[in-house]
Amino acid sequence: MLKLDKSKAAFEEAKTLMPGGVNSPVRSFRSVDCNPPFIAHAKGSHIFDIDGNEYIDYVGSWGPMVVGHAHPRVVKALQEAAERGTSYGAPTLLETELAKLVMEVYPSIQVVRMVNSGTEATMSALRLARGYTHRDKIVKFIGCYHGHSDSLLVKAGSGLATFGVPDSPGVTAGVAADTITVPYNDFDAITKVMKEHGDGIAAVIVEPVAGNMGLVLPKQGYLDKLRELTEEHGSLLIFDEVMCGFRASLGGAQAAYGITPDLTCLGKIIGGGLPVAAYGGRRDIMNCVSPAGPVYQAGTLSGNPLAMTAGIETLKILTEQSEDGGPDYSRELTIKTKKLVLGFADIAKKAGVPVQVHQAGSMFGMFFNENEVYDYDTSAASDQEAFKVWFINMLEQGIYLAPSQFETIFMSGAHTEEDLDKTLAAAEKAMAAVAEY
Ligand code: PMP
Repeated sequence: MLKLDKSKAAFEEAKTLMPGGVNSPVRSFRSVDCNPPFIAHAKGSHIFDIDGNEYIDYVGSWGPMVVGHAHPRVVKALQEAAERGTSYGAPTLLETELAKLVMEVYPSIQVVRMVNSGTEATMSALRLARGYTHRDKIVKFIGCYHGHSDSLLVKAGSGLATFGVPDSPGVTAGVAADTITVPYNDFDAITKVMKEHGDGIAAVIVEPVAGNMGLVLPKQGYLDKLRELTEEHGSLLIFDEVMCGFRASLGGAQAAYGITPDLTCLGKIIGGGLPVAAYGGRRDIMNCVSPAGPVYQAGTLSGNPLAMTAGIETLKILTEQSEDGGPDYSRELTIKTKKLVLGFADIAKKAGVPVQVHQAGSMFGMFFNENEVYDYDTSAASDQEAFKVWFINMLEQGIYLAPSQFETIFMSGAHTEEDLDKTLAAAEKAMAAVAEY
């Protein structure tokens, strides 16, 4: 049994100071009836809590830590950057460098604006789409999460799905009325909506690989269909690759599926664990953003030198290929992820537990479900009690997974073969417990 005495006391105190004791809801572990370990430090693929427990970490700060925690190159670059001052509120060469690194991998991004969170990126991209098209309505997909700006908190995934409140009080009926929602992967539904409302739709925003209703992959031809319909109706296609960027493949879902969106939102990895996100895309659209154009968007800390530095160093590590022609980082991540995915599937099969296991590059997800999972409803039909047994059992064995079936788990370059073998050994025991529950 995991000893969490200090974390329990810390959580009790935190609950008197912050809503639910946390600064972001899913961290409370409320959905799995478990006290969250309070984290003291992290290194590579491991995190350590204040009670001295050590875990193999598959959350990776919800995606950003793709090169592992406290990577020596990132830490050194940050230390040096901090010596030069932590914020100037003025242009720097670092912003240009990160912009170029992003564009090398995402050629659909011709002009980019750095912001501080994924929420800001998607919110700003939507404002831009509305300003550019002079239309009000947007389409989002049920179970996709794009951060917590008002017009996107409608039938959203992630924590909202975890806590069973996909819409949020405080979003006015007027704002919600401009957001049309359709089921993910449903060709007929989006075709019908575009036919009926297409001329009033500024943008269709989608997680091209959906990671906030668990990991759900787009059906063959689905993203092509979105591209075709948006073009036909003069609406913009926005790929929210905040999570799947640099993960579904190095070039994200757009490279993996060969689709060019009009705008792309990135986040998480491009900040290497510091608060950075970005939106970018076609030059003519992006040039509507202030001060090049009239659509306003700004930020005191946008392009912050520390944050840019962590992003630059992380992207360099991720994109550099070994000079002697050795393995490429992204491919290695995919291979490691595949080992877990196949291992979990095999272990579940032997234990007689029906699961659906999905992978996209270095992202993976598992549903306790005997049926195919392809949208929010099929994801929500998964066995939440089985998940709880699995999650707690894995945690007690030192494997730190996301505390909800509506989340995705992430591989990093720091995970070793030993980590993977330990994880699979733990999975055997945890799956046996699921089979018995
Ligand atoms: N878009 C997607 C696809 C996300 O997964 C998230 C966060 N997990 C966001 C947007 C919001 O990003 P942030 O939490 O940085 O605001």
